[in-house]
Amino acid sequence: MALEKSHARNQKTTALATFRIAMSLVFLLSFGASAHAVPATQAAERGAPGQERLSSAKRLCEDLGAGCRVAKIMYWQVRSLFFAKPEQGLYWLYIISALSVAMMVYALGLPRLRDFSVTGCLHFIFPNAVYRHASAVTDYKYYITTGFVDPFLTLVIAGGTAIPVSSRVSAALNSIVGPLTLHARPGWIARLAYTVLLVAAIDLGYFIFHYLAHRIEFLWEFHKVHHAAEVLTPITGYRNHPIDSLLQLSIIGGIVGFLNGVMTYWYQRPPDLITVLNTSVVLFAYNLTTNLRHSHVWLSYGNIASHILSSPAQHQIHHSCEVRHLDTNFGRVLSLWDWMSGTLYIPTEKEEFRLGLRHEEHREYVSLWGCYVLPFIKAFRGLTKGRPALDSKGDKVVIPQTVKRI
Ligand SMILES: [Zn+2]
Ligand SMILES: [Zn+2]
Repeated sequence: MALEKSHARNQKTTALATFRIAMSLVFLLSFGASAHAVPATQAAERGAPGQERLSSAKRLCEDLGAGCRVAKIMYWQVRSLFFAKPEQGLYWLYIISALSVAMMVYALGLPRLRDFSVTGCLHFIFPNAVYRHASAVTDYKYYITTGFVDPFLTLVIAGGTAIPVSSRVSAALNSIVGPLTLHARPGWIARLAYTVLLVAAIDLGYFIFHYLAHRIEFLWEFHKVHHAAEVLTPITGYRNHPIDSLLQLSIIGGIVGFLNGVMTYWYQRPPDLITVLNTSVVLFAYNLTTNLRHSHVWLSYGNIASHILSSPAQHQIHHSCEVRHLDTNFGRVLSLWDWMSGTLYIPTEKEEFRLGLRHEEHREYVSLWGCYVLPFIKAFRGLTKGRPALDSKGDKVVIPQTVKRI
């Protein structure tokens, strides 16, 4: 018995070492790929947020050579880790806005406003039970590792699908409908429409990915890493397996590419976005509360708005492992897709529920080994062994709740 245990431990150590080497290789390869991919992606994303800054960085790098290019990539990656990119949810301004809303939620929950205290407010926003929980500690470790990989995936995969799809769609329209002799000039209305449509396209891509990740068991094994969180902190939003991110970005890239192909056909190039801090104004508004989605702070938008916009409370319900909440609220910015697909769940009041995976399965995902390697083992084991019809949480098939109205 002891021999078996020691053998199993040795196997695990060897596999862990192999995994670390593989991750280092993936990191180095993606590093090299990104160094080449950045200019191509930028060239294809005219008017994209941050483009001007990146273009000037690129020119500087061309002047100073490859060494500087590597330094630029490092700088870019480090910025994404330390809350300095307005394109990312953990930007310092979004953290301040989320803290302000959380403070208001605390104040509104008090019996009398004069009961407000700074200590009470800090305990409400940063409870030890959440931020020191073992699951939160796993999130922090995971953030450091995926925080480096994810921006590369965004560049290489999303650019890699959006660009060819965009050029093929615009070429197909040219050959089917015929070339436009006079291209319209995008005015304010076209720019506003494109700003809204782009966010809708990104969100539709996210919804499709998310729906598939819950419905297809093979994909669910990778998406489980995100759902294994037993408490929610803003860092949990970055607890995504690289395969999960890869699928997500590929689908989003395809849909955004389709939209850009149509825009390129019509206007010669997509209209400039309406931006705040180089970020789409719509995403900027959404990001003001995005950090509350993965938190214990309950913020619902009410019955009517929750049919269109996905509130932080709706995403918290998405993380619930209670049967009544299973496989609901897949949308990120918009809940409209859920409404149309019958997967919308609108809470009528603040609800109490357990987070994580059913049958305590989340306990298997407290280590980085569990988060990175276990999904591969489970996914491929599922492919090779026949399994009974189960829902995505591992129970017998349960039809999810549909719209819950007041
Ligand atoms: Zn999910
Ligand atoms: Zn989530």
